[in-house]
Amino acid sequence: MNAEVQSAAAALHTAPQEFIKNAHIDAARYEEMYRASVEDPDAFWAEHGRRLDWIKPFSKVRNADFTFGQVSIKWFEDGTLNVAQNCVDRHLETRGNQTAIIFEPDDPNAPARHITYAELHEKVCRMANVLRSQGVTKGDRVVIYLPMIPEAAYAMLACARIGAIHSIVFAGFSPDALANRINDCGAKVVITADTAPRGGRRTALKANADAALLHCSDRVRCLVVKHTGDQTTWVEGRDVDVLALMDHAAPDCPAEEVGAEDPLFILYTSGSTGKPKGVVHSSGGYLAYAAMTHQYTFDYHDGDIFWCTADVGWVTGHSYIVYGPLANGATTLMFEGVPTWPDAGRFWAVCEKHKVTQFYTAPTAIRALMGQGNGFVEKHDLSSLRLLGTVGEPINPEAWNWYNEVVGKGRCPIVDTWWQTETGGHLITPLPGAIPTKPGSATKPFFGVRPVVLEPESGKVIEATEAEGVLCIGDSWPGQMRTVWGDHGRFEETYFQQYKGYYFTGDGCRRDADGYYWITGRVDDVLNVSGHRMGTAEIESALVAHPQVAEAAVVGYPHDIKGQGIYAYVTLMNGVEATEALRKELEAWVRTEIGPIAKPDLIQWAPGLPKTRSGKIMRRILRKIAENDYGALGDTSTLADPSVVDDLIENRMNRA
Ligand code: ATP
Ligand code: MG
Repeated sequence: MNAEVQSAAAALHTAPQEFIKNAHIDAARYEEMYRASVEDPDAFWAEHGRRLDWIKPFSKVRNADFTFGQVSIKWFEDGTLNVAQNCVDRHLETRGNQTAIIFEPDDPNAPARHITYAELHEKVCRMANVLRSQGVTKGDRVVIYLPMIPEAAYAMLACARIGAIHSIVFAGFSPDALANRINDCGAKVVITADTAPRGGRRTALKANADAALLHCSDRVRCLVVKHTGDQTTWVEGRDVDVLALMDHAAPDCPAEEVGAEDPLFILYTSGSTGKPKGVVHSSGGYLAYAAMTHQYTFDYHDGDIFWCTADVGWVTGHSYIVYGPLANGATTLMFEGVPTWPDAGRFWAVCEKHKVTQFYTAPTAIRALMGQGNGFVEKHDLSSLRLLGTVGEPINPEAWNWYNEVVGKGRCPIVDTWWQTETGGHLITPLPGAIPTKPGSATKPFFGVRPVVLEPESGKVIEATEAEGVLCIGDSWPGQMRTVWGDHGRFEETYFQQYKGYYFTGDGCRRDADGYYWITGRVDDVLNVSGHRMGTAEIESALVAHPQVAEAAVVGYPHDIKGQGIYAYVTLMNGVEATEALRKELEAWVRTEIGPIAKPDLIQWAPGLPKTRSGKIMRRILRKIAENDYGALGDTSTLADPSVVDDLIENRMNRA
């Protein structure tokens, strides 16, 4: 099949010599460190655990048991530390006047803000004192429902400073979703803002919080950041003007000593496969892993300007806007706006304005901007860029090549980072000076990560280098989630029951002859057509490669003869007419791109695809519609635009 041809023969892209020469990790060092990390993980992680400042140094390194029924994961368990101290205080002596956070507001004409480490320290301390004054103590939960403003980072670090556990709820979520999360984690306090400007419009965050709090205990306090100054309702005794209190709070606040295993945060998964789970991350292991992956995957050096475009509401924002960069004393950019406002050149304008060196975004954004043409990119001077990254979904080679050539001008290595909310940091990713890339492959495992490919039905490990099946991880790594908040049973059932002794990722993958990993999509999305297994991602890539296709999503549906049929939802480029001739052409196109077996049985024209707020296609909904079973779509509360679903149901192709 073309898939194999593609992976074996895919062009290797090597970083420029200059890049390799200055990289933290080159090819030889990667091999040597990787071997050390899997042969003697205790020694390896003892060394790398020391990248943090510990109050009481750890003597135990790894203590992990993946046995179903008794799963327990601990790292550095007898060590104590404070996460905010690691992200802020320890840099003060050498970097007090260095910018920690560049804040780029939604409005391109409003001034950007440069927050130094010294200022960050003061803000975090003041906010920590405000939280204390509201009765928040070690182990209490604080829900953060804030837009992409510096106060979101202050709030995270303020919680960490006093040992409280934060749970960020993406500011695009509805009152219902917010209320569910406040109640699930039993938060004492919600921190929100009056309104949130995005793309020139304003979301009434405080009003959403008011609506949510109607469904929560009346003891929950609401701390409001007056960000825009817009008028909001005010509940005396419950609502607190947090900036006003910060002005009066003491500018210093002692950092609470916490255990390495004390939770740092809870983050609810995006819900693309089911009811969101409260993923719990630790203080010590998580921070060490976020910091180390940030440094090596992005080849971060002093003086770099690092920009991750994710929202702090997602794990990517936690690990690669806040915790990883700040633990490394980096300069990290926070962007309040959207990629397409005032025009589709905003990302590139911000890169130019702040001389961004590493740029990290999602395939969905890349595809959207690719569809707007090259002019928006070419208008801007992107010569400061050294490295590009992607995360969130498999990136189709079409988009990869555009990113590489048009944005990176062929001189910026691309790191396609595979990881999950559950993993805390990157697990499979190129290290840019060490691992030549292939468009669409996440390449090789990070240090200490032992990927295993299993036969889906038998669960047998496939030892051969070339393998295709489900992706599991053979051993723990420090950034691994520790439990599902309040439901350890669900944690074990979701990740450790199906394939005994392994962490089950839920993703399918292929390993090619060079040992490169290709994520083929969720296991639920791997199709079995007449006995041939294939990832939906491959067929989607083929469809998107057609010049008239903007986006595609492929799912299976029951088929009398083949077992499973291939159902493709296709969004056409702006202005392209959906005709029968085009449908036939796309069928023929996939036949030649991949092979006759991959030809879609049904193609539905989709004006839009159902996506989560983080931009991921919700395939379980598409599967239901394809199965003609659209009555029970399950939890759709995290959909960005529920109205697209109605259109898809109305025009469904399988009415059997
Ligand atoms: P939920 O777990 O609630 O269903 P989710 O899995 O979409 O939501 P995340 O943890 O944000 O939530 O996403 C992790 C998943 O995203 C991975 O399991 C994988 O399917 C996909 N993914 C992330 N990065 C990549 C990548 N570089 N290549 C391919 N797939 C990726
Ligand atoms: Mg997931």
